[in-house]
Amino acid sequence: MISVKTPAQIALMRKANQIVRDTLNLLREHTKPGVSTYELNKLAHEYILSQGAVPSFLNYNGFPASICVSVDSEVVHGIPSRKKVLHEGQIVSYDCGAIYKGWHGDAARTVGVGYISPECQQLIDVTEQCFFKGVNSIKAGVTRLGDLGHVIQSYAESFGYGVVRELVGHGIGRNMHEDPEVPNFGIPGHGMRLSAGMTIAVEPMITMGTERVDWMDDGWTVKTRDRKPAAHYENTIAISDDGIEILSL
Ligand code: MG
Ligand code: MG
Repeated sequence: MISVKTPAQIALMRKANQIVRDTLNLLREHTKPGVSTYELNKLAHEYILSQGAVPSFLNYNGFPASICVSVDSEVVHGIPSRKKVLHEGQIVSYDCGAIYKGWHGDAARTVGVGYISPECQQLIDVTEQCFFKGVNSIKAGVTRLGDLGHVIQSYAESFGYGVVRELVGHGIGRNMHEDPEVPNFGIPGHGMRLSAGMTIAVEPMITMGTERVDWMDDGWTVKTRDRKPAAHYENTIAISDDGIEILSL
């Protein structure tokens, strides 16, 4: 079932998403060689609580941390730990969610650790561009999910990149994951129409090589099958007749 949000509900989601945005900015500032992903998780956890919100990932289906930290070939759902320390040249994807007064925010960013290769920088940049090209193409009541997915997919593939199929964006509101599923691939003219009042998380997960992924034995971490790098960029958006608002920017 698709839930349509009122302006007052979207205002609460805006607040939740601003907390997520600020947490991600804090993580970016603290990204440097030698920092452990455990420390980054602690920083994010404490910041979210200090803002009167709750980290939504902690204990979500048993997830053991407040943020996902996925390095290089890890696409999503990496688990922070004391042993997982960042090194120069890596790329790291932070995924963060917060609940404020019962409403969810969800966003993700990939950032470089120190100096990174031009190839990795391009992957990060194109993944962000995929998001913006996709959401800027949305017209309430006109655009279908297949249209949005196609914009993202065709842009990523024009660089020879892969688009992960097994993981998709989603509706969001009182729950982190609501209907509809929002794929980063699709066929124009297919799928549900996006309409005013819908709030969705659009989150391209783009790979340098194959789009195939493997699930690791920890039950969470998703890696590219060829172990080449992947990037992730996500924001929660609200769709209205006047256009889209990116709530987590
Ligand atoms: Mg997310
Ligand atoms: Mg999400």
